[in-house]
Amino acid sequence: MMADLPVADSSGSRSVLKKAALEEFRSGLHGRIILPGESAYEGARKIWNGMIDRKPGLIVQCRGADDVISCINLAREEDILLAVRGGGHNVAGNAVCEGGLVIDLSEMRSVRTDVNNHVVHIEGGATLGDVDRETSSHGMATPMGVVTATGYAGLTLHGGMGWQLRKHGLASDNVLGVDIVTADGSLLRANAGENPDLFWAVRGGGGNFGVVTSFSSGLHPVPEEVLFSVFVFSLDNAAAVLRFMRDYMAEAPDELMVLAALWTAPDLPDIPPQHRGSHVLFVLGCYIGPPGDAEAFVKPLRTCRPTVADLSSRKSWVEVQKFFDEDYPPGRRYYWKSTLIKGLTDPVIEAVVRQTASRPSMLTSIDIWPMGGAFGRVDPAATAFGSRDVAFTVNYESNWDDADNDQANIQWTRTSLKEVQDLSQARTYLNFAGLAEDMEKMVRGSFGDNFSRLQAIKAKYDPANLFRTNFNISPGKKGS
Ligand code: FAD
Repeated sequence: MMADLPVADSSGSRSVLKKAALEEFRSGLHGRIILPGESAYEGARKIWNGMIDRKPGLIVQCRGADDVISCINLAREEDILLAVRGGGHNVAGNAVCEGGLVIDLSEMRSVRTDVNNHVVHIEGGATLGDVDRETSSHGMATPMGVVTATGYAGLTLHGGMGWQLRKHGLASDNVLGVDIVTADGSLLRANAGENPDLFWAVRGGGGNFGVVTSFSSGLHPVPEEVLFSVFVFSLDNAAAVLRFMRDYMAEAPDELMVLAALWTAPDLPDIPPQHRGSHVLFVLGCYIGPPGDAEAFVKPLRTCRPTVADLSSRKSWVEVQKFFDEDYPPGRRYYWKSTLIKGLTDPVIEAVVRQTASRPSMLTSIDIWPMGGAFGRVDPAATAFGSRDVAFTVNYESNWDDADNDQANIQWTRTSLKEVQDLSQARTYLNFAGLAEDMEKMVRGSFGDNFSRLQAIKAKYDPANLFRTNFNISPGKKGS
């Protein structure tokens, strides 16, 4: 038997959902409600980042768009705080809210490949691994990120950077249409022909406009086997290698994507014993083109300075996508921040190399992605993601295990990021948003010139700001 349920209202204050309303809601659901005290509750409220410890009032594991509509109607009519969980991987933890209703899409993970039309249909709770599993057997992939447990929805709604970025752009650049439930409970289709303003907004603007129950995204052929380069350099050589990489990637073909990671040498037989556990630079590379051409394009990156080790190998596309999976287990403490910069200048390089040596945790990395290619050729006004004149993304990925070390790691991340932003700031990237502190500044800084257009679309589709626990764009005045 159900009783009145304590919940948080949209402002976060204490409220109550009456037993009768809860029972009526439950009777119409296809999926499952999980309440505090039930055995499934602890598991269902946990997300990837072990720093996040929120206790929702109710979690609804939806089974389809109809359930999502019921949740949105309940939250709006009863004034309950709402959060939406895709893959639950955003470091800021806004997939869960304290006291409110969580729309949990983890039971909505189906993926369907339309081979003939090179389109994949992806439900709102699918992970990158779910997508790759269905598309790779057809020799195709849609651009995503590089760890397979990440949710496709959250990643794509704010952009999504991965190995295909220079060849085919962001994940969001490849979205052809979405099914989305908006704040008034309508299930809409948004694509180039239907609700084009909404279609523009969801390609970069995040979950501010509704719950995406399904994406249709473009597929591209990927080689059966890829030469996956993993070159390891000592920290002494890191600055010279990064300078070389910067200049080399400015002229490189779109097929070549690299990721430079200032990290820690693993305890592996292929790493000389004296380097294991030391600060090193990884240069990882992936050439998405004829396999015979790959070696010629990656060789200069290997030979620009002496390597500590070369761990390169041929891999299937799915193996490439899984390469980092074991490095990011759920439940660890994570604080990630990111900045997109216009130039990897010598002072920026000097800063990141120096910062590497002062990491409070050897699990932490500073990752540098060269942009450009197809990403850079998209008109900044074509999607909400906006600015395309950024040359590199610098991600600070602080990872540690002991809660006593929270402050040291968070402080190191903030100080280090600020130093680089002061040298070459372009914008922030909301997929790596720390603990969502300074939300308003961060959101404005992320969208730049596109912000006011996003506010106007928010005012049209979510005037009461139901989806406020996302990286919130407050509604502008209608028609502004
Ligand atoms: P969630 O926390 O579930 O959601 C994130 C946000 O999106 C929340 O505000 C949520 O409410 C909203 N949302 C989720 N689903 C929906 C939906 N269906 N409809 C509407 N709103 C929704 N990013 C990259 O660009 N490239 C990478 O290679 C990359 N690698 C990563 C690796 C790891 C291990 C992790 C943890 C993150 C990585 N990221 C990467 C960042 C990632 O893109 C973001 O964390 C992203 O928000 C994760 O999406 P999610 O669905 O798992 O997260």
